[in-house]
Amino acid sequence: MNDFERWGTAFRDHLAATSPEPIGLVVDRAEGPWVYDPDGRRYLDLLSGIGVANLGHTHPEVVAAVEAQNRRHHHVMVYGEYIQEHQSLYAAELAAVAPGDLDRVYFVNSGAEAVEGALKTARKATGRTTFVSFTGAYHGDTFGALSVGGNEIYRTPFEPLLGEVRRLPYGDVEPLAAVDETVAGVIVEPVQGEGGVRIPPPDFLPALAARCREVGALLILDEVMTGFGRTGRLFASGHSRVVPDLLVLAKALGGGYPLGAFVGRSALLDTLVHDPPLAHVTTFGGHPVSCAAGRAALAGLLREDLAARAARGGADFRDRLETALSAVGGVEDVRGLGLFIGIELESAAMAGAMTRACRERGILLGWTLHQDRVLRLTPPLNTPEEVLEEAVARMAEGLAAARTPPGA
Ligand code: PLP
Repeated sequence: MNDFERWGTAFRDHLAATSPEPIGLVVDRAEGPWVYDPDGRRYLDLLSGIGVANLGHTHPEVVAAVEAQNRRHHHVMVYGEYIQEHQSLYAAELAAVAPGDLDRVYFVNSGAEAVEGALKTARKATGRTTFVSFTGAYHGDTFGALSVGGNEIYRTPFEPLLGEVRRLPYGDVEPLAAVDETVAGVIVEPVQGEGGVRIPPPDFLPALAARCREVGALLILDEVMTGFGRTGRLFASGHSRVVPDLLVLAKALGGGYPLGAFVGRSALLDTLVHDPPLAHVTTFGGHPVSCAAGRAALAGLLREDLAARAARGGADFRDRLETALSAVGGVEDVRGLGLFIGIELESAAMAGAMTRACRERGILLGWTLHQDRVLRLTPPLNTPEEVLEEAVARMAEGLAAARTPPGA
C-alpha cells in the first residue's frame, strides 16, 4: 500500500463522514485555481474550496506571511488580552474597508461562530429575544446558526433549537412588516448561497435596513460567502449601499486559514465587555497565523482590484456559460453576481451527473446545500480568462455527457 492508499483507508475507516458518498478526491497540493492529485492530474477548482480561495490556493504572498508568522509565534493567549501585530492591524485594515462607520472587529474561528457572536450581541444590546431570518438561508451548523437557518430539513432533527425565530420569504418587501419592536436582530445574506445563488430584487436590502432602523432591530449581514470581492464589490452590501449593524465574515477572510469575524460599531461591540465582563470569549479567535494569512490575502485582493475583475470577468463568464450550456440543453437558468454563479438544471439527478462528468474532465464544481438542482461556481477571482474559457467548453461536454442516457 502506498502513502496515498493509506490516507484513503484512514479516511474511509476513521474520519467522521458528512455524507454517504464523499467526493473522495485525493489532494496532493493546490496552487492558484488548481488542485493536484498524487498522479499529478490537475483539477480546476471552480469552488475555491467553497468561497475561500478568492486569491487562489497557496498564494505566494500568503505563504510568505504564514511562514514569517510561524517563525515568530503561534497561539500565546486567549483572544482580546495581548497586543499581537497581525490581529490588531488586520482589525484596523478591515475597519478601513468595512461598510460605513463599522470600526470594531471581533475575531473568531469560523462563519458559524461569527454568526453566534452576532446573535448574542444583538440580544445583549437590544434586550430583545426574537430573531428574523429568511427562507433558504444558510448561516452555519452550530445551534444558534442552525436556528436561523432557512431549511427545515436540516433543523428538524436537532430541535428544539432557539425559539422565537420568524422566517420571512427572501426577497419580498411586503412581509418585512413582521419585523417589529420585539425583534433583536434580522440576519440575512445579500445573495443566498446555499439557497441556490438567489439574488434579491434591488429594493429588498434597503427596505429591510429601513425597517430595522424604524423598529430598532439590528441588521446582521452575513457576508461569509459574498465578502472579499466575490460578487464584484469588496462586500456585496456595496451594491445597495446598505450599512448593517453587524457584518459577519469568514471563508476568504483568512486567506485559506480558519478565521471568522463579526464587525460593528464600537458602541455596539462594547456591550460584550460589561455585565458581565468577558461575556463572550474564545481561545483561538483571531489566531496569529490566520490573521497574517488574511492580511496578505486582503492586501493582494485590494492591490489587484479583484472585486472589479470579478465584476467584469463574472459577467463575461456567465454569458459564455449561458450560450454554451443552453446549446446543449437541460439548463433552466444561469444567474449570478460577479463570480458567484448558479446554474439551475432540470433535475437534481442531472446536477449530480454533470458534477461527476465535469470532475472526470478536470473541473471541480458542486451543488448548493438547499437547492440540489443548482450548481454553484465560485472560482478564484484571479483565474485567468483563458482558463475560464476552457472551463466553459469542458462544462458543456460534462453537461452533454450528463444528458446522455447510460449505455447510449
Ligand atoms: N454563512 C454563510 C452565508 C455560509 O455560506 C456559511 C458556510 O458555508 C456559513 C455562514 C458558515 O460558515 P462556516 O462553515 O465557516 O461555519
